[in-house]
This record gives sequence, structure tokens and C-alpha cells, in this order.
Amino acid sequence: MLDAGSVWDKSVAVLKQRLDPQIFAAWIKPLSLEKVSLTRSTEIRRDIQSPRRTEAELVAPNKFCRDHVERHYGNLISSALTDVTGSDDLVVKFKVGADLVSNLGSPRISSAPKRQSRSYRVLENNSNLNEKYNFSNFVVGKCNQLARAVSQQVAESPGTRYNPLFLYGGVGLGKTHLINAIGNACRRRGKSVLLVSSELFVNELIAALRTNKMEKFKNKFRSLDVLMIDDIQFLVGKERTQEEFFHTFNDLYHRRKQIVITSDKLPQELTGLEERLRTRFASGLNADLQVPDFETRVAILLKKAEGADIVLPDEVARLLAEKIDTNVRELEGALNRLQALSALHNSPLSLDLASTVLDTFLPNSYREVTPELIQRTVSERYNVSVKDLLGKRRTQNIAFARHVAMFICRNLTSCSYPEIGALFGGRDHSTVIHAYRVIKERSDGDENLAQDIADLTRKIETGK
Ligand code: ADP
Ligand code: MG
Repeated sequence: MLDAGSVWDKSVAVLKQRLDPQIFAAWIKPLSLEKVSLTRSTEIRRDIQSPRRTEAELVAPNKFCRDHVERHYGNLISSALTDVTGSDDLVVKFKVGADLVSNLGSPRISSAPKRQSRSYRVLENNSNLNEKYNFSNFVVGKCNQLARAVSQQVAESPGTRYNPLFLYGGVGLGKTHLINAIGNACRRRGKSVLLVSSELFVNELIAALRTNKMEKFKNKFRSLDVLMIDDIQFLVGKERTQEEFFHTFNDLYHRRKQIVITSDKLPQELTGLEERLRTRFASGLNADLQVPDFETRVAILLKKAEGADIVLPDEVARLLAEKIDTNVRELEGALNRLQALSALHNSPLSLDLASTVLDTFLPNSYREVTPELIQRTVSERYNVSVKDLLGKRRTQNIAFARHVAMFICRNLTSCSYPEIGALFGGRDHSTVIHAYRVIKERSDGDENLAQDIADLTRKIETGK
């Protein structure tokens, strides 16, 4: 018997990686896995291994949530559950857990009437591909023309041209989408395909080393027609993995198997990656993904809306595309939030609703949080000059403001302790660690300080 709690915890972790954070919070978090059971078909003779069917029952808090989740994330959830349970044949039922009666105080009804549950089935897929990403739902603009064209060619004849294909670009610009589109197309041609994140590659390698299963590890990767690694930048600094990857790469490459890599930087810029790997990556074709222009952003929104059955008026799409010019993921997040809100209020997705939502939810939240911005905001709040914040003076109020600013830097930026030290007048990293601990401990026990930090954080992030 499988433990529903732990199966669901693991599936949730997988889903969190595959979904936009807002969507995850809005739609996946409220779900629970009520039951998961393994059955063997009885009609099949006992001496033959019969297929293992897994039945899972997912419970949503209400009908609206159940329908939405089932329609939009049913496949994704099924594939996460399939990955976690290792089942050959998985059937998921979506149910409504609590209805009006239980809201009125009666005992919680744990399973809804039969007619409210529907079944979902997924095909076996151990290539880690996300089936929702295809070429047909990838919108082409100037920003991604080349990347899209060469991806298509690679998908049509893997291993023949453009090997390795190296796609690079900032976050949320479609790298993962394109790499999956290539994989899905290759898979439809009967190729054996595997998509791994750098993280997964590292984890599998460590597991193989620990359990003396290196042969198996090697064979798994080397038996592929197409190997795809998403976000290779995370291999930086992991020497043992790089070495293993180098051998895998060479082996596949020499046998004319296709390799596709995505990264947030060009190969030349991946410092911390072995020179010989960088040279290999640079030897294939590099294609970049840029931020889409206004027209492409509108087209992407309309495409997303169409795919999700959302009625999105043109003027609303234009408003969103105008306000959000950072990346496609943000754009999509805003669309989903709007849609959830309009469904909740049972009102159409109007320009009015969109502008209120944009005002309240996305003020300037897309401005970049820099250490300088943090220093400026904190110094204003505590009436201390930025010069003093970075200087040598240690009077109580200055030291306090400095500690708070360091603490917030650590929370809101990706700076390391030594980097923060350097940004605050060349201080040692141990000073920053100390400052962080002091503020953390104090704010845990002091509500005023905790509120102060929350206010500062909001101000820094949103400008309000
Ligand atoms: P990255 O891997 O570069 O961070 P993703 O591929 O995850 O970005 O893209 C983020 C979201 O934006 C995905 O939902 C993806 O489908 C969407 N997206 C990005 N570019 C496009 C595009 N050109 N057309 C349609 N959707 C896109
Ligand atoms: Mg990605």
C-alpha cells in the first residue's frame, strides 16, 4: 500500500518545479491526495506479471477548483503522480472534498457522489517531457525566430545538423518550452529522448556513485537518440558531474546522437564550467531568446488564452502586454491571476478588472531589486545617510540600520555574504552573518521590527 501523504508530498515538489509559482499556490496547494492504491488486474494469469494499475483520488475544496484543475492541470498532475509512483498505468479521479453542507458546520464529507468524479489517464512517459509544450503553441517573433527555426530543424532530423544545439536566454523567455517542443517532436518520431535538468543529472550521478551503479547510469544516458539538458548553468562548480557529462557528451556526439542544451548564458560566459565543455558547446549552434516585442507579447497572450479557453478581449491583452515587458512567464502569470479573479467574481475579463488587478497586484513589482535600492530605502526609513550606512561609524542607530539593510539584502537579492560585505564598505562576510542573525532573532521576538521589515520589503519590491 502506498502512503498517500508521502506520494502527494513528492508529487507536489515535482509540480512546484513545473508550474508558475502563482498557479501552483492558487490551484495545486489546496488539493489533497485522499487515496492511492495499487491494483493488479485479476483476469490476467498469475504466472505473468500483470500491469500495475494505480488509482489515485485527488480532492479539491470545491467544484470550481476541481473543474479548473482537472481541465488545465490534469495531465500535468497525472504525469507527476506517474513519475512518483513509478506506475505503468495510472488513473486519477478528481473529487470535491467539502461541499456547502460541510461549510455549514456538518461533518466534512470526504468523498463526493460518484457522478462528480471523472477519470484521467496518461500514457507512459519516462522522458521527463512536458507534453503541454509544442511548436504549435510557441509564438514566433523577432526575439526568437532563429531559435525556433533551428529547433524545428533539429526536431525533424536529430543528430544531423546543429549538434549540439545550445539555446540561451534570460528567465521566462521560452527555453524550457522550446526544448520540450523538440523532445516531444522527436518522441513522436519514435526516437528515445531524455530531458534532464542539471540538478537531476547531478542527483542521478550521486545516487549512482553511492550505490555502485555507474554502469547503469552510463548506459541509461548513452542509449539515447536525443539527450537534452535544461539549465546547464547549474553544472557550474560541479566538477565530478562535468567530467561525467563530458564523457557522455563525447560518446553521444561521436555516434551522431543529438544533444540539446539550454542555459541562461552563452557558453563563453559560463565561468566555472570546464574549458573543454565550453569549447564543445560553442562548437555547435548557439541561438538566443530575447524579450519579445509588444506585438509578440500580445500574440503570446492571445495564444495562451486560446489554449486555456479564456475569453481574452484584445484590449485587455494589449494592456497586459504594455504593462508587463519583462518576460513571458510574468505575462502568463498575470493572465492566470486575472482569469482566476474573474472566475471568482463571476465577471468577464474586462479592461476595468484588468487595470484594477494590475494596479493592486503588479504595481512596480517588476522593478529590479538591487543592493543600492535596498540601501537607499533603508537609509530613508531610519534617517541615516547611505554614506553612513556604508561607512565606518558605529553609533547605535547607524549600526542598526546597517544590520537591517544587510538582512534585507540577504533576503531579497541573490548576493552571498561576502558580496554583501563588499557592498557595505568592504566588510568581512562574518560581519554580515552576524548582522543577519541579530536581525533575524530580534525580529522573531519583536513585532514592531518584524512589521518594519515587512513594510521595507514591500516598499523595495513595489515602490509603494
Ligand atoms: P525559461 O525556461 O526560458 O525560463 P519557459 O520556457 O519556462 O522559460 O517559459 C515560461 C513560460 O512562457 C512558459 O509557460 C512558456 O510556455 C511561455 N512562453 C515563452 N515563450 C513563449 C512563446 N514564444 N510562445 C508561447 N509561450 C511562450
Ligand atoms: Mg526553464
